[in-house]
Amino acid sequence: MALIVMKFGGTSIAGAEKIKLVAERIIKKRRNGNRVVAVISAPGDTTDNLLNTAQQITDAPDPRELDMLLSTGEQVAIALVSMAIKAKGYQAISLTGPQAGIYADTSYTKARITRIRPKKILEELKKGRIVIVAGFQGLNPYEEITTLGRGGSDLTAVALASVLKAKSCEIYTDVEGVYTADPQVVPEAKKLDYLSYEEMLELAGSGAQVLQARAVEVAKKFVLPIEVRSTFSQKLGTEISEGAKEKMKVEEPVVSGVVYDKNQVKLSITDVPDRPGIAAKIFGALAKENINVDMIIQSAARGKNNDISFTVSRDDLRKCLPILKKVKNELNASDVIYDDKVAKVSIIGVGMKTHPGVAAKMFRVLAKEKINIEMISTSEIKISCVIRENEVEKAVKTLHFAFDLGRK
Ligand code: ADP
Ligand code: ASP
Ligand code: MG
Repeated sequence: MALIVMKFGGTSIAGAEKIKLVAERIIKKRRNGNRVVAVISAPGDTTDNLLNTAQQITDAPDPRELDMLLSTGEQVAIALVSMAIKAKGYQAISLTGPQAGIYADTSYTKARITRIRPKKILEELKKGRIVIVAGFQGLNPYEEITTLGRGGSDLTAVALASVLKAKSCEIYTDVEGVYTADPQVVPEAKKLDYLSYEEMLELAGSGAQVLQARAVEVAKKFVLPIEVRSTFSQKLGTEISEGAKEKMKVEEPVVSGVVYDKNQVKLSITDVPDRPGIAAKIFGALAKENINVDMIIQSAARGKNNDISFTVSRDDLRKCLPILKKVKNELNASDVIYDDKVAKVSIIGVGMKTHPGVAAKMFRVLAKEKINIEMISTSEIKISCVIRENEVEKAVKTLHFAFDLGRK
């Protein structure tokens, strides 16, 4: 019997009716002769609401308690889904991340999975049960519960599917697949039938919320095919796999998608001395605290000093500021300033490697809309620009149109 891992996101289980529908989809898979492990996220906006409540109590919540709080959403969800399956006459059991044998490192709120011991999952499957696992959770070496970063249920699903050698890993969500742009922002965006791991990694890493970037990394490492599809329709979704390249058109599109990320903040340290080792000191201090730095710009030296600006995720701002102030004092720099009204817009496509002029076109399109570019970064298959947050929707729409990505 083949083993299938299915993952259902928060919007798919918002409310009793949707939970019953999810139960039916899971049961159907089982009835078709598969063993099924289903990973479930917290319902609707639960995680956001829990975070908000914590922020109202203190602006620096204790990380252990924060994970204790955030992990509750998924626990509610698995119990309800399991109940719904049993009510329809099928055998099921819900397991928390720790019960499912998901072990993580010691960093709270974005812990990394260190190993998976799926003993209990395998025992339950053997009894003929459908196993319902809480996404987003792990157990650290101190036997404390941790969470795997926003969107972490995708990671739970992909990691379990890899370890259990599942035949497939199906990610069920509120859209029909991965699109050329966020379909909630660009209604004429087109669903992509196939994507390479490479492209999906860049899309997810640049803000396409539909899959967590770390989940894509794990899928790539284990060469696990993923399908992203809708909970509410029977249509085929987007296949992300090794073989996807061959299934794509003979000529790969120059640009496959436009992505945005509003969860960005720009930080600058001003008047930093211009000498070797400074960047290493600043970014070393941030790395030590597990803070991911994205774009970096060092201004041309004025006299003996220059400014260093970079972006991090807004969730990390509070953690960043005291570290940077300390470094600023040590370096005798002038100031640490931040700007959280920025956003990042990116275009992604494997065809870029062989087509010159894509960046120039992107800049021209933004200039025509009078959108100022504050930072730029590029990779072989991606170009990103930091712009004002209130211009990001306009930027996504115009770039999507200019690169001719919409439905014909
Ligand atoms: P879930 O709760 O199922 O995990 P998410 O909200 O995390 O769902 O991700 C799905 C959302 O991702 C969609 O509703 C859509 O608005 C957004 N999204 C952003 N970019 C894209 C894209 N390129 N393709 C599809 N969806 C996207
Ligand atoms: N509930 C968690 C979040 O909102 C995990 C997930 O949805 O994947 O980030
Ligand atoms: Mg998600």
